[in-house]
Amino acid sequence: MTALLEVDRLRKAFGGVVAVDDVSFELDRGELLALIGPNGAGKSTCFNLINGQLPPDAGVVRLDGRPITGRRPREIWRQGVGRTFQVAATYASMTVAENVQMALLARERRLFDFWSRAARACRDEALELLAAVGLRERADEPASTLAYGDVKTLELAIALANRPQLLLMDEPTAGMAPRERAALMSLTKKLVRSRNLGVLFTEHSMDVVFAHADRIIVLARGQLIAAGPPEAIRDDARVREVYFGSGKLLSSALSA
Ligand code: ADP
Ligand code: MG
Repeated sequence: MTALLEVDRLRKAFGGVVAVDDVSFELDRGELLALIGPNGAGKSTCFNLINGQLPPDAGVVRLDGRPITGRRPREIWRQGVGRTFQVAATYASMTVAENVQMALLARERRLFDFWSRAARACRDEALELLAAVGLRERADEPASTLAYGDVKTLELAIALANRPQLLLMDEPTAGMAPRERAALMSLTKKLVRSRNLGVLFTEHSMDVVFAHADRIIVLARGQLIAAGPPEAIRDDARVREVYFGSGKLLSSALSA
């Protein structure tokens, strides 16, 4: 069967810096794949090449077997590639439910109908999505009253509103406390399974990565140096070297 996402010999240079250097990997439906590597390894550039924010110098990205490279971000989003943002992108003045309704209307290109019947029609679907992420009880509260961890969870519901097949999450847990991080990744994993979603994410906490990812790929200076299940990555000599070399030891996860 065709993989959901195929990244095939992708390359991107900025001046003399090869940020993504001949990188290839695949991601299946129902799989939670972590992309890790030290700062500057090329993780965000990789995301931006996949979602169309940046054109690659070489290589192809395929979604469900069809090339999406060179398409505009909006078009790639329409094909079912969603993303969450490092900085939460919600509307504080709206209620939690309205934030999701906005996203549902955007999917249907009815952005300007917000106060019409269309908005009310989307409410049930918004409430379903909020239930799926555990925010149903907060639906009618202003988004501004949510704690940071809940804002990030709301973002996940907003991303799901477009019914993505593939979700890209660049540092989804940045700024969150350890317990919130684990909760957001458990929820993500649950959604991956229940909706048969493919998720590619980056994350600094190795504990979270090793506890939740189905598979891990490791970038260092733009190159993919390892790929495999957490157990294999934990024992990989090159991975250890990269992290020891950067002076940032992989906490307990690697020595466990
Ligand atoms: P990561 O997300 O793994 O920290 P990035 O993809 O942000 O890494 O960056 C990879 C390399 O590419 C770094 O050396 C960074 O300085 C460089 N880089 C990223 N984006 C740009 C840009 N728009 N212009 C110039 N250099 C960039
Ligand atoms: Mg980054």
